[in-house]
Amino acid sequence: MSTHEAEGIRGDGGDSGGNDPRIVLLGPPGAGKGTQSSNIEAAFGVPHVTTGDALRANKDIETDHGTPREYMDAGELVPDPVVNEIVVEALADAEGFVLDGYPRNIEQAEYLSEMTGVDVVPFLRVEEDELVRRLTGRRVCPDCGANYHTEFDPPAEEGVCEECGAELTQRDDDTEDVVRERIRVYRENTEPVVDHYRESGELVEVNGENSPDEVWEDLREAIEGNV
Ligand code: AMP
Repeated sequence: MSTHEAEGIRGDGGDSGGNDPRIVLLGPPGAGKGTQSSNIEAAFGVPHVTTGDALRANKDIETDHGTPREYMDAGELVPDPVVNEIVVEALADAEGFVLDGYPRNIEQAEYLSEMTGVDVVPFLRVEEDELVRRLTGRRVCPDCGANYHTEFDPPAEEGVCEECGAELTQRDDDTEDVVRERIRVYRENTEPVVDHYRESGELVEVNGENSPDEVWEDLREAIEGNV
């Protein structure tokens, strides 16, 4: 991938003028951003733009900076030019959006602000022990994408997808040592992004430790009250 198209596509950063909300969903790895972004997509009719999924689908693509896999499997951030390009392309025709997993550092936040304004930045707050429990127990279906948890949401038959019968797998970066590194990288790089949006007044904090339904209720209120 290259970044040569980026400059031409970036807008003026002003208001979109439309009614579709522009949402940046922040939170540490394992906070439930993917689940809640799907809820937002369904309820508000905006596309779910997730750099994590886009990178997973392109893990072995050769870029000027190596393959995304080299960074992802170690729990490190993929270099900004690779990630920025994904977001530029995804947002090119979007009026509203829910961004999940981006921006993850201050440079990406600055890049985003040149591309578009945002309406609200919900932040899902979850403590570290809970994140580790959630992530290390997560199992995914490689065929249909269904998610399970060994402790909180096990499938009827251990290791087998209830939806399609495929054998469940663990994400390469959900092992405990990589999870701890992802959380460290989050603290170092992404917490300053949280502070940045808190200072700009766009951040709305939501308790991410509640049940998914309760989190969704709070999140929906936070969005409706701010767009
Ligand atoms: P996620 O599914 O959001 O937890 O992302 C999985 C991995 O993809 C991360 O640990 C990073 O290696 C990479 N990644 C996702 N989004 C970004 C981003 N905005 N900047 C850099 N790396 C990212």
